[in-house]
Amino acid sequence: MTKYIFVTGGVVSSVGKGISAASLGRILKSRSIPVSVQKLDPYLNVDPGTMSPYQHGEVFVTKDGAETDLDLGHYERFIGTELTQDSNVTSGQVYASVIAQERRGDFLGGTIQVVPHVTNDIKRRIRQVAKISGADVVIIEVGGTVGDIEGQPFLEAIRQMRKDEGRDNVLYIHVTFLPYISATNELKTKPTQHSVNELRRIGIQPDVILCRSDKEISEGVKDKISLFCDVSKEAVIPLVNSETIYEVPLLLEEYNLGNFIVDHLRLKAKESNLDSWRKMVQGLKTSKEPVIIGLIGKYVELQDAYYSVREALYHAALIHNREAQIQWLSSEELQEGHTTKLEQVQGIIVPGGFGYRGIEGMIESAKFAREKKIPYLGICLGMQTMIIEFARHVLHAHGANSTEFDCNTPYPVIDLLPKQRNINQKGGTMRLGTYPCHLVTGTKAAHAYGCSTTHERHRHRFEFNNDFRQPLEQAGVIASGLSPNGALVEIAELKNHPWMVACQFHPEFKSRPDSPHPLFTSFIGAAKETLVTGAQTSLPIS
Ligand code: GLN
Repeated sequence: MTKYIFVTGGVVSSVGKGISAASLGRILKSRSIPVSVQKLDPYLNVDPGTMSPYQHGEVFVTKDGAETDLDLGHYERFIGTELTQDSNVTSGQVYASVIAQERRGDFLGGTIQVVPHVTNDIKRRIRQVAKISGADVVIIEVGGTVGDIEGQPFLEAIRQMRKDEGRDNVLYIHVTFLPYISATNELKTKPTQHSVNELRRIGIQPDVILCRSDKEISEGVKDKISLFCDVSKEAVIPLVNSETIYEVPLLLEEYNLGNFIVDHLRLKAKESNLDSWRKMVQGLKTSKEPVIIGLIGKYVELQDAYYSVREALYHAALIHNREAQIQWLSSEELQEGHTTKLEQVQGIIVPGGFGYRGIEGMIESAKFAREKKIPYLGICLGMQTMIIEFARHVLHAHGANSTEFDCNTPYPVIDLLPKQRNINQKGGTMRLGTYPCHLVTGTKAAHAYGCSTTHERHRHRFEFNNDFRQPLEQAGVIASGLSPNGALVEIAELKNHPWMVACQFHPEFKSRPDSPHPLFTSFIGAAKETLVTGAQTSLPIS
């Protein structure tokens, strides 16, 4: 019998519900309990694939090609399991499927209503994760904050789940925020009381309250929350800011949340073993020599847009006993010729992106990295800008570009594949999800991976144009990763450079704190050998 843990949020958004849900997964997994996680997003988009990073932050891609919420990245990194499209449900998906059923005539004669038709579809999707994952416990995070209009059907569905599945099989955890009033030097519990009242009005009584706060939470404050919210005191759990997000499972464990859940849900569990996780957290918290990486993007004021890239850099640096210090550099500023900031970094990373804004600055960064022999990792768009730069300045192909940015370029070194040409629907139509990639022996990419084939996740429309492969290869580009039939260049690197490697896929999605991605590990390994004078590395050039 599958057990369900529902995580809701109160008071304000961005209180760390996603990290909390992921941490619950880790503490259960540390007791050898098979877990899976799902995010229910109340917005009406079918998926976040067409949303701007300003609205949504990063779009996380699952192995089966779903464009999902960035919380799925937390879940995968904390639990170490690859999730699927079933792990992210939006109101858009639910309504689309209910309406499609209505049009087919599945409800002939009936009136379609939020309860029971929409709520039934939500419950079906929750149970689907239990079924396909085979997990003993499914953790379901409800996006948004209790009280939001769009969230109501989801809360009603999870309320029904306790009745459907039985009291011993369902647990509700509410994550709230305790604001600090400096004038009186106290943490206030009233917003938490209000949000729990709102939950109760819907018919959900939380079993556990996780209290996020910027300050230590006193016993008195816990007593008050326990009394007013009718939650046992051991289930009022403080979650004060931690140095690293990976510490949260350890903090929850300190408050005995793992045992509380095991008892409440009557789970069969082994002794908790968080030793290796604890060691990893200790490693992250210990101060170390920095390795300075310039991350070139157009959303650098919004680090959530590059969440997985940032985490992958941290994971890889840890393996080298270094601390990744990221310089967030605006590609638009760089394109105005302000490249001096690049002289301060030991490695340059150009992550994924869409649209022309900032592209010339990324190309400028690739030029700087190539000429000054600074290690460069290009991801998706970062591979495309590396190729454009090389074509323009080494092959002297004046005006070389991607047809995404200039459809009349005389040298379309990056172009659409024929099967992308006639697509006129934007959502869910890119090359998405996992594809195999063969690594060419003797290349830096093959050396980084230490194997001959890898599987990596994609999210792009444009590709390396094979019409230009020969001249580019002759001038010093190596196609070091190829699709199995050799037709698609998945990784490209430069000869005569210590480490300039770029991939058409997104390696960051597969990096884990306890098992960094080989390309990131190899990149940081090269970057740490670079002197920060803006030139030269002590690495041999090949
Ligand atoms: N805009 C480019 C494309 O669609 C790159 C996409 C990306 O970086 N994810 O191919």
